[in-house]
Amino acid sequence: MFPIKYLKRGYKDVLNILYPRLCLSCNNVLLEYEQDICHRCLSGLQLTGFDYRHNNPVYEKLAAIVNINRATALFLFDKSGVIQKLIHNLKYKNHPEIGAFFAKTTKNYLSDPGFFDDVDYIVPVPLHPKKQRKRGYNQMTEFGRNLENFFGVPYTEKILLRQIHTASQTKKNALQRRENVKNAFRIEQAAKYSGKHFVIIDDVITTGATIESCAESILNYIPDSKVSVMTLTMVL
Ligand SMILES: [Zn+2]
Repeated sequence: MFPIKYLKRGYKDVLNILYPRLCLSCNNVLLEYEQDICHRCLSGLQLTGFDYRHNNPVYEKLAAIVNINRATALFLFDKSGVIQKLIHNLKYKNHPEIGAFFAKTTKNYLSDPGFFDDVDYIVPVPLHPKKQRKRGYNQMTEFGRNLENFFGVPYTEKILLRQIHTASQTKKNALQRRENVKNAFRIEQAAKYSGKHFVIIDDVITTGATIESCAESILNYIPDSKVSVMTLTMVL
């Protein structure tokens, strides 16, 4: 009789021809042993190891402008361009599943698993509902939900909300960015979260203005709260 494993194998091959699995970064067809991204892209993705050092470049940048507990960016923003491509596909090419890939990588490689110790909630930088409708998702949702699964810290989009639809930050200088996001956020039921520690997650830190505004909303409105920050990457 024809061994069942060959049938299974054949079925998998047919599926792969009909619906080839593509690299989430470069879109090339993945080989059977490759998961999510191809070997070549994976080798271009470099971890910062920042979470291992309290006084790392992200912490220093943010601590200069707002009172934060700890901060890290997971991947180096470098010339291989893999991290940029992944974030671009995550935000603009309808690939929310890239967030799950980032969470999986974080779980496997986080050099300091204590980063989430004593953290009560993971919250994303919120999008204005209008922008979220247009994109169809917040690019941090899958990342946050998977972090919740891996680290056991609840992820929620119901505490930190965006109240003002701000213009894009990309063409603005540091001062304009700060003005642009000042008072853009608000807290829902602040008193309920008194004394809690929040990790704000975001894709890229550039000047830190958006994170600063989010962190200030939390610290100003939630009594005795603490804020930490985790981003995918940072433009130095
Ligand atoms: Zn690739």
